[in-house]
Amino acid sequence: MSAAVIETEERKALRAAVAALGTRYGREYLTKVVRGGGHPEELWAEAAKLGYLGVNLPEEYGGGGGGIAELSIVLEELGAAGSPLLMMVVSPAICGTVIARFGTEEQKRQWLPGLADGTKTMAFGITEPDAGSNSHRITTTARRDGDGWILTGRKVFISGVDIADATLIVGRTEDARTGKLKPCLFIVPRDTEGFQRHVIDMEIQAAEKQFELVLDDVRLPADALVGDEDAGLLQLFAGLNPERIMTAAFAIGMGRYALARAIAYAKDRSVWKAPIGAHQAIAHPLAQAHIELELARLMMQKAAHLYDQGDDFGAGEAANIAKYAAGEACVKAVDQAVHTLGGNGLTREYGLGSLVTAARVTRIAPVSREMILNFVSHQTLGLPKSY
Ligand SMILES: Cc1cc2nc3c(=O)[nH]c(=O)nc-3n(C[C@H](O)[C@H](O)[C@H](O)COP(=O)(O)OP(=O)(O)OC[C@H]3O[C@@H](n4cnc5c(N)ncnc54)[C@H](O)[C@@H]3O)c2cc1C
Repeated sequence: MSAAVIETEERKALRAAVAALGTRYGREYLTKVVRGGGHPEELWAEAAKLGYLGVNLPEEYGGGGGGIAELSIVLEELGAAGSPLLMMVVSPAICGTVIARFGTEEQKRQWLPGLADGTKTMAFGITEPDAGSNSHRITTTARRDGDGWILTGRKVFISGVDIADATLIVGRTEDARTGKLKPCLFIVPRDTEGFQRHVIDMEIQAAEKQFELVLDDVRLPADALVGDEDAGLLQLFAGLNPERIMTAAFAIGMGRYALARAIAYAKDRSVWKAPIGAHQAIAHPLAQAHIELELARLMMQKAAHLYDQGDDFGAGEAANIAKYAAGEACVKAVDQAVHTLGGNGLTREYGLGSLVTAARVTRIAPVSREMILNFVSHQTLGLPKSY
């Protein structure tokens, strides 16, 4: 069996080391940070210092020289400890990967060392209010302005724009000759004139906020464009596949965290003769949740393996399936964990109730359950399209 299925000794060691870091921070730390309206800066800085945040980035730019397989281990283990870092999904995974693969030498030098050592963070914006799941319909448009660009448009639900040094914005160029629009990526620094953000009032208890963005004739230099303006979807998916794999890691970590809390409670709580965990109505759904999380991880490892081997096409299908499986497993594990605790499942003291909302994010973002089922229906099964 390949090393991607049975974890190598190095990856096992990484998993154990990150789990140890997670235990030093954990849920209590994150809850305190969130309730205080802050960000998990200490954890972000320490994870970076230990080389975990940039583990996937090239060594020559300060990274660890690993891949998405390693980065997903980091996020899963921090999640399993109760203190996931959502910005890992966008900063090193999407933005770091896209810049490392398609950026100019100057862009790599400017961004990768900072993304790797945690001193710089980059958000990612593709979702638009009128396009939603149909990203082919995005209308954020870049038009040429001398040597540079002028970017105009709107984005919604973009995470962490307030704490990110810049946001990688997906737009389209307005090709003057043909009038055709093509997707391409621009680095927009946080304080650029005309780049406005408004926080969205979300029902999620998390440190990272979501924003609506307005790009009102944002003037950018020529080197704000990452990669080739004609490379289009290929370049975009080089970043979106890691995003799906990392969302799977986020979901599996959260599911494991909730499951562990439920198991501890089920062993301890007795309302008849035996602890409630002895009742199969409690034990079996927890066992099922464990099985489904394990299966989702296997698919995530396959997706990461294919991606790290350079098989973008194969990784696309596997990353979608992994994200689907992990999102479903996470929602089920959290639901069953809350149920296992009875009334305590909804108390602030036990802190599981808020995960019900958080878990749903993994079903909706970055690509919804239905859009993955559509992808598999059309691309894998060859079924006709209804839209
Ligand atoms: C907490 C959070 C953080 C986020 N962070 C980011 C970020 O950092 N950057 C970013 O760019 N985006 C981000 N998003 C946006 C996220 O990717 C979108 O919410 C997601 O892609 C769904 O788009 P939508 O909300 O417009 O839903 P819609 O596209 O309006 O879909 C609504 C519902 O209709 C269903 N649907 C739509 N079309 C079809 C179809 N053809 N067949 C069947 N069902 C369909 C969907 O599955 C969904 O259930 C974030 C979202 C959340 C909730």
